[in-house]
Amino acid sequence: MRLKNKVALITGAGSGIGRATAQCFAAEGAIVIAADINEAEALITQELIEAVGGKCQAFKVDVSQEVQVKDAIAKTVSIYGRLDIMHNNAGISIIKPTTEITEADLDRLIGINFKGVFFGCKHAITQMVTQQEGIIINTASELGLVGQPLYSAYCGTKGAVIAMTRALSAEWVKQGIRINALCPGPIDTPMLRAELDLATNPKLEAQAAVDSIPAGKLGTAAEIAKVALFLASDDAQFVHGTTIVADGGKTII
Ligand code: NAD
Repeated sequence: MRLKNKVALITGAGSGIGRATAQCFAAEGAIVIAADINEAEALITQELIEAVGGKCQAFKVDVSQEVQVKDAIAKTVSIYGRLDIMHNNAGISIIKPTTEITEADLDRLIGINFKGVFFGCKHAITQMVTQQEGIIINTASELGLVGQPLYSAYCGTKGAVIAMTRALSAEWVKQGIRINALCPGPIDTPMLRAELDLATNPKLEAQAAVDSIPAGKLGTAAEIAKVALFLASDDAQFVHGTTIVADGGKTII
């Protein structure tokens, strides 16, 4: 029960890493707000958590719309009285040769992966300053640290999240707010499966992904949830403005 009665808002909690983190935080005693643009999937996360005795409430939120993020945080505070943990995790990928990326693609990627995280930080910080404490976790990616063909725009948004996280931490650390970035490597989620399905031979592509990871396997969403749990817990109380990479060693070779 490392998060007993902590109020945690997780974006992108209707799938993959966000859902696993919602389940993990709830199992550790947190009251979880499962926020997602896909309300039906967020409700499934709520049901999965409630079925095992945890506390969770689903919210429909499009993180690329500032007013929706602001309202979700205001609603959380009006119901639960505070916001202890904000996990800005919602994200999308658009995988194309750079020459085929349209301005609309770029706007969508930046809107969700960068502006969505910025809005989450901005409005969580506004609340956390009044509490003089709070924890923010931003999901970036190992692709914010290294390059990969077809991912130029995605890599740009994730590198931006890492840089922004450092700057935000420097700005707000004295107000008791702990802000860090989490960089997963290839994790077996619907996002990764959809990316692999774009290949001519998805099975071969999946094997190539595994071969690129020294640990010899794709990560699981539950493995990333445990890293988020560390960052959200008091065990990480001296961890500020940094980037934790959980990628099976992919970026060491
Ligand atoms: P996923 O597609 O399984 O889940 C993403 C969730 O975000 C979905 O439920 C989706 O509905 C939600 N979402 C999308 N747009 C949204 C919006 N505008 N507002 C609110 N919610 C929105 O993906 P995942 O693999 O769990 O990825 C979660 C995060 O981890 C993303 O930021 C992703 O970039 C990052 N990441 C994933 C991997 C990987 O290999 N899976 C690797 C590195 C980083």
